[in-house]
Amino acid sequence: MDIFFDQEHLALRAKVRSWVEKNLISAGEKEADIEEQARQLVHLLGREGFTAYVAAKKYGGVRESVQARDLCIFREELARGSALADTMFAMQALGSYPITLAGSEEQKKRYLPAIAKGEAIAAFALTEPEAGSDISAMQTRAVRDGDGYRLTGVKRFISNAGIARTYTLFASTDPEKKIKGISAFVVEADTPGFFLKEKTSLLSPHPIGVIAFEDCRIPRTRLLGQEGEGVKIALATLDTLRCTVAAAAVGLAQRALEEAIKYSRGRRQFGQALAEFQATQFKIADMATELEAARLLVYQAAWASDHRQKDLKQKASMAKLFATEAAQRIVDQALQIHGGMGVVTGTPVERLYRDVRALRIYEGTSEIQRLVIAKGLLKEAKEEKQ
Ligand SMILES: Cc1cc2nc3c(=O)[nH]c(=O)nc-3n(C[C@H](O)[C@H](O)[C@H](O)COP(=O)(O)OP(=O)(O)OC[C@H]3O[C@@H](n4cnc5c(N)ncnc54)[C@H](O)[C@@H]3O)c2cc1C
Repeated sequence: MDIFFDQEHLALRAKVRSWVEKNLISAGEKEADIEEQARQLVHLLGREGFTAYVAAKKYGGVRESVQARDLCIFREELARGSALADTMFAMQALGSYPITLAGSEEQKKRYLPAIAKGEAIAAFALTEPEAGSDISAMQTRAVRDGDGYRLTGVKRFISNAGIARTYTLFASTDPEKKIKGISAFVVEADTPGFFLKEKTSLLSPHPIGVIAFEDCRIPRTRLLGQEGEGVKIALATLDTLRCTVAAAAVGLAQRALEEAIKYSRGRRQFGQALAEFQATQFKIADMATELEAARLLVYQAAWASDHRQKDLKQKASMAKLFATEAAQRIVDQALQIHGGMGVVTGTPVERLYRDVRALRIYEGTSEIQRLVIAKGLLKEAKEEKQ
């Protein structure tokens, strides 16, 4: 595994792991309201200097440029301790990466330092009621209005809806051009005409909801890149951020494996520890092997992102597909090893079982990842033939 890392990555991993151990695992679950917990986590991650890794040094970050391997290390280690901590870190990255990629100097200076410090919560608003996997069905409109745009539309499943200060928004500036008519914007939370429509309650709680724009006017300076570049910006963001979803899956699965080993050594049936049954040992061996394979795909994809490799898209989709599906199987087996205790509310495996599910859906479902992988391979084959 170390082939993908330099000394700085290894030191970062050790630092984050020890912080997670002390502040998330030993501290245990908190009872506070989910939005309050989310806000506190972003504040803590900012104070610790962790969210600084989502921006380049010039804009309050740590390194010269944002590195996928850093983001993956954070997500793997944070997810091992708390799915909510992982989500809050991830959203600072997902909400700000389009600005890093396509923002003007002025936009970067205006938004990135506050996100890197954990002072401003970020969000990424792409999905709509009628446009989930199919972005081309997007109905949110940004109509030119003097020296600005007027936004109208609804976005659903928006993580950090209602608590974010900075939203990266995707809206159509030219519906006739379909996918090529979609543009990216930054919308500030206090803009008149922009509001939280409703909160959404999920299997594994995190702040999420529906946002709406009714005659919401934004200045032209909020446009990211050029008109029509929205999908290019969104897809380039997802190419890198998908590796990090896979990293979070690895973190959840790692924790499940640890919990399964611990429980199987302590619980006795038929006069021996569960760990002494070969059936249990085989489960543990399969879980560990899948986990290691997933981890390799994650850091291979992250390395490809950091080294601007041409096949990043495929590698990121493979990592996300395999790691999130494998994590689901690993968590399920860990729960099985716990028997009835595995479904008792509040136990770590019960929580992991709920936490792991959404990863196969957001930032492109497993089916969409398969389409991306196959499309890439078939295109390559066609090009070779020509
Ligand atoms: C926890 C969570 C957090 C999220 N956070 C955000 C966020 O912050 N910002 C944001 O913009 N969105 C967010 N989303 C939305 C997420 O990205 C979408 O849910 C996802 O892209 C799928 O869209 P959908 O739910 O509309 O499902 P649909 O697109 O309706 O898909 C339903 C099913 O049909 C399958 N399907 C669709 N098309 C095809 C096809 N061509 N071939 C085969 N199968 C297909 C899908 O794989 C899926 O199984 C979040 C979702 C969740 C669950």
